[in-house]
Amino acid sequence: MNGDAVILGAGQGGLTAAVTLRERGWVGAIHLVGEENRAPYQRPPLSKGYLSGVESEHDLLLRSLESLERDQIATHLGVAASALDTVRQRVVLSNGTELAYNALIFATGSAPRRLSLAGSELSGIHSVRTVQDSDTLRKDLERGGDTVFIGGGFLNLEIAAEASKHGRVTILEVAPQILGRVLSRESAEALADFHSGLGIEIRCGVEIAGITGDRGRVSAVELQDGTAIPASRVVVSIGAEPRDELAREAGIMTAGGIEVDMHLRSSDPRIFAIGDCARYPSPFAECEMRVESVQNATDQARYVAGLLTGGPESGYRAVPWFWSTQGERRLQIAGIAMPGDAARVVERGDGGKLVVERVRDGRVSAVETINAPGAHMRARRALAAFPDQAASSPPREHVQS
Ligand SMILES: Cc1cc2nc3c(=O)[nH]c(=O)nc-3n(C[C@H](O)[C@H](O)[C@H](O)COP(=O)(O)OP(=O)(O)OC[C@H]3O[C@@H](n4cnc5c(N)ncnc54)[C@H](O)[C@@H]3O)c2cc1C
Repeated sequence: MNGDAVILGAGQGGLTAAVTLRERGWVGAIHLVGEENRAPYQRPPLSKGYLSGVESEHDLLLRSLESLERDQIATHLGVAASALDTVRQRVVLSNGTELAYNALIFATGSAPRRLSLAGSELSGIHSVRTVQDSDTLRKDLERGGDTVFIGGGFLNLEIAAEASKHGRVTILEVAPQILGRVLSRESAEALADFHSGLGIEIRCGVEIAGITGDRGRVSAVELQDGTAIPASRVVVSIGAEPRDELAREAGIMTAGGIEVDMHLRSSDPRIFAIGDCARYPSPFAECEMRVESVQNATDQARYVAGLLTGGPESGYRAVPWFWSTQGERRLQIAGIAMPGDAARVVERGDGGKLVVERVRDGRVSAVETINAPGAHMRARRALAAFPDQAASSPPREHVQS
């Protein structure tokens, strides 16, 4: 395919797609459209080093606008794509600009799922997706007091480690364990122990009745059993929703994300979707899924850029991997475990080190490591053969560190 490329979303995936297209010799125009009015930046530090003040706004930058200009990538920042005409192959932006495309890539990401509880409209309720969200939360944390977290997922655990430096922290989780859908009980317990050591209280299996306030600002979170937990602020992370609304309105197939095939192509052959907004058939999960990780966004971006510039026709099958830094603990996951996959602890060591294999149909489907980067890298290499490998675990030396 050749001609002009339009990329919607100037985040991790969109930026990588634009730059890779140019690197691989795309000769036509490349338009990168982003509704946030800033140069493309990375999000992981927003709940880690940037929130704590160790990293600056400059450290977040993925590429400067000058370098994009040098690569002849036209940026349209601070404007949203507001309409898509798939017949005329045109995108309309919120400032009225119309962009014609031969290839269109959706890299519109996801947005935090909103609370629908009594009191959700009070001030002092945070969720972190953008630089501004992280700035607002940092300022609020610096005021001290009690922070209550709703949801025991990766983001909240990362932020909680930072919040514990400023005051009392409570994490509320509806499920019987934190990180229940994505992590083995063994790894989740190791992280829960670490957070308890920071003085954080984790309460699982709770039902939240609502948030109460005082003069418009949050003051407590109430549980169904009548307990009221004092809160100077509440941080909510209860999952994310794909930004697939524009695709849906344009008649492209969506189902909890923009549906794409193994080549990341949507129901319209000129339109692709990558990153958080894409629902794709993963050979690692044996089903269609959305994955929210930097690796997923960047590898899918490179894959589509490769496909558009005459790359290999085989389907997308990069090994999924993920990391989450929670205080002194660095969790890394290689592969994708399904909730029913068995877990076996391969190694426990000093400094919180833990290696857990997840096993499906007699094969290692994923490896979870805490403070064991060597084991993580070996697992990634071993998993590259998944799911075509013979029904056996990777040799033990692949997962020991
Ligand atoms: C706080 C935080 C911490 C994280 N930490 C980690 C981590 O430790 N490890 C990890 O692997 N992953 C982490 N992630 C996840 C990772 O950042 C995302 O998976 C990744 O950014 C996805 O890239 P993307 O390009 O799909 O979406 P994004 O990077 O979110 O970019 C999408 C962009 O599209 C824009 N957009 C949406 N609709 C439109 C429209 N109609 N017109 C124009 N622009 C539009 C959005 O505003 C956004 O700027 C974290 C995420 C967050 C929020």
